[in-house]
Amino acid sequence: MDMHCHVDLYSDHDVVLDDIKQCNYYVLSVTTVPSAFEGTVNLTRDIKNCRTALGLHPQLAHERKNELPLFDKLVSKTRYIGEIGLDGSRGYKEHFDDQLLVFNHILQKCEQYHDKILTIHSLNAVNEVLDCLRNHRQAGIPILHWFLATKKQVEDAIELGCYFSIGPAMLASARARKVISWISQDRVLLETDGPFAKFDGKVLVPSDAGLLVEYLSIEWNNSKTQVLNKLSTNFKCLVSES
Ligand SMILES: [Zn+2]
Repeated sequence: MDMHCHVDLYSDHDVVLDDIKQCNYYVLSVTTVPSAFEGTVNLTRDIKNCRTALGLHPQLAHERKNELPLFDKLVSKTRYIGEIGLDGSRGYKEHFDDQLLVFNHILQKCEQYHDKILTIHSLNAVNEVLDCLRNHRQAGIPILHWFLATKKQVEDAIELGCYFSIGPAMLASARARKVISWISQDRVLLETDGPFAKFDGKVLVPSDAGLLVEYLSIEWNNSKTQVLNKLSTNFKCLVSES
C-alpha cells in the first residue's frame, strides 16, 4: 500500500501510473487543492486499486482558502480527505490563522459524514493538529503522515484513534526511526509521499513503500510475511472502521 502519494504532481504521469499498475498496491492519491480533485480522479480512472483524496494543503491554505466552497461541493464524492493539516514551519507559520480556519472548516464538514478517512500533515504543528482532532472527534479516522513527534505525542495520537503512515524517506533520519519505534504495530500503514520524498537521491514511486517491509521485519522481530500480514490487517481495520 501507499497511503500518501501525490500522483498528480509527478512530472511524468506515465511513470507513476505504470508503477501503480505493475505493483498492484492500494494507492491513496492525495491532492493539495480542491480544484485539482476531478482532474486527479480522471488520471487514475482505469486503475482499480487507487482512490483519490480531496485536500487543501496547509502550505497553500492562505492562497487557496477561497476554494473551501468547492471543497464543500466535492466532499460527498469521496471517502478520503487529504492532504490537510497544519504547518508551523518557517514561511508558513505566519499564515497559521488561515491554516486553522481551513483545517477546522474541513474537520467540521467531515463530521457531517461518518466514514471519512483523513491523511494529515503536522510538520512543526503536532500539538495544534492533535488539539483540532480532539475538538472534532467525529470527523473520521485520522492518518498522521510522516509524523515527527515526541513519545508522549505519539501516545496522545494513538489515544485519539490515529493511524500513522510511514515511508522510506523517514528511514534516513534517526529522529524519525525513533518515532517509528514508538508507534504500536496495529496502527502502522505505509506511504511514499512521492514525488516530494526521495530515497537514496531517487524520487519515490508507490512500489517503493515496500522498502519499509524489510526495515519493519527487523524492528518488530517478525518475518516479512508477518509484517505484510500485520499491515494488511491494519489496512482492513482502517477501512472497516467508521
Ligand atoms: Zn504530502
